[in-house]
Amino acid sequence: MSPVRVRFAPSPTGFFHIGSARTALFNWLYARHTGGTFILRIEDTDTARNSEEFLNVIYDSLKWLGLTWDEGPGVGGNFGPYRQSERAHIYREYLEKLKAAGRTYEKDGATWFKLIGDRHEVYDEHRQKTVTKVKTAPMVIEDAIRGRVERIEDEDFVIVRSDGNPVFHLVNVVDDIDMQITHVIRGEDHLSNSSKHVALFEAFGVKPPIFAHIPLILKQNGPGKMSKRDQGALIEEYQKRGYLPEALVNFICLLGWNPGGDREKLPISEIVSLFDLPAVNQSNARFDDKKMAHMNMLYLLALPPAEFTAKARAYFAAQNMNTGEATEEYFAAVMALAQPKIKGFEELPAYTAYFWSETYPTDEKAKAKALGKGDPKARLAELAERLLTADLSSDASVEAAIKALAEERGLGFGDYQGVARIATTGLSAGPSITSLFRLLGRERVIARLERFAATLG
Ligand code: GLU
Repeated sequence: MSPVRVRFAPSPTGFFHIGSARTALFNWLYARHTGGTFILRIEDTDTARNSEEFLNVIYDSLKWLGLTWDEGPGVGGNFGPYRQSERAHIYREYLEKLKAAGRTYEKDGATWFKLIGDRHEVYDEHRQKTVTKVKTAPMVIEDAIRGRVERIEDEDFVIVRSDGNPVFHLVNVVDDIDMQITHVIRGEDHLSNSSKHVALFEAFGVKPPIFAHIPLILKQNGPGKMSKRDQGALIEEYQKRGYLPEALVNFICLLGWNPGGDREKLPISEIVSLFDLPAVNQSNARFDDKKMAHMNMLYLLALPPAEFTAKARAYFAAQNMNTGEATEEYFAAVMALAQPKIKGFEELPAYTAYFWSETYPTDEKAKAKALGKGDPKARLAELAERLLTADLSSDASVEAAIKALAEERGLGFGDYQGVARIATTGLSAGPSITSLFRLLGRERVIARLERFAATLG
């Protein structure tokens, strides 16, 4: 077998979405698994629908996901150029070969590809015209995921439009031949094109590559394929939301592939060694944003604290989040509390707001609930008084102080905790009250308790 050469061949006609990312990833994984070459080819012949903006999103997203290419725009290679818009001379050359072999004809200003087989005319009611049907042998697609697929191609098709632009089928096949692609790994929506492609490969006298058509990604809710417009579809958005790219890559791998057993979180090196095309599922995968968020949480939990803190800093900077007077040490201490509790960096601003400023929102429902029993005003006053002298240097010492107070009053820890939390954070949940007091410090906690008590009338 010749060394594996695979390509990811996006058309820059829209934002980069989960489906494209998965196709890129499966190609990349297969190249890395086999020690082959991963090529990026830009299918930008549809000038009316292409844009440089979308192209840059493709480059950025691939780099962010870590899917570096061995040949393609920016890195070069022996089979370039790698943008179809720069390969017109190559398409002309290949077209001449088809012409010379008698496999084309001109009609209505366009160039058509001629199938081989018996021809007869039939009247097509739907289009209301006479068409020529060709009785060909079935086209055989050797598909590494679906097995052997046979499809009938029974009508000639256009390969160069009347405006002189070559059609997708032609340029796609020419490039796969010219770039010596061994495996075509792409979305199942292209399966219906592959019989045309096989017919073209045969006309060029080239053995078709091995195909691998990846099943669809279904919408989270309801039937049908996930589209770019669906919630959670765009890669760029995960980037903006502070998702970890390695978590996203791991999640996307599982859309249509599984490593066996019930393992889900795997380092990329292990995915590379386990990944293979026959192991890709034949059935469709369903997108699940909760699963995605959970995967991100697992990766966040596994980060060394210093790395979590550095990434959180970068996220805060990107969001223009103001952390007030926070020192590096204080910021890191707050992050140590947040790391085990959040699913994604996007939760951080709300989760930590009260650590940076004295103005933070109060959850009114939670407030009503916390104030609903006992004598909250008395509890706040008792606590504020006790904190004047209590040792707040560790969680244990804070806990001991609150417990001692509760015991003296014949109450429980919880009688102080709920009301103290709403008073000092505005929320009903968060880090332990002992950590909160330790970090916020005596002055701030007492001031908040008193300020809150004053609003109770
Ligand atoms: N340019 C095609 C697309 O974006 C890719 C076709 C292929 O991979 O063969 O869907």
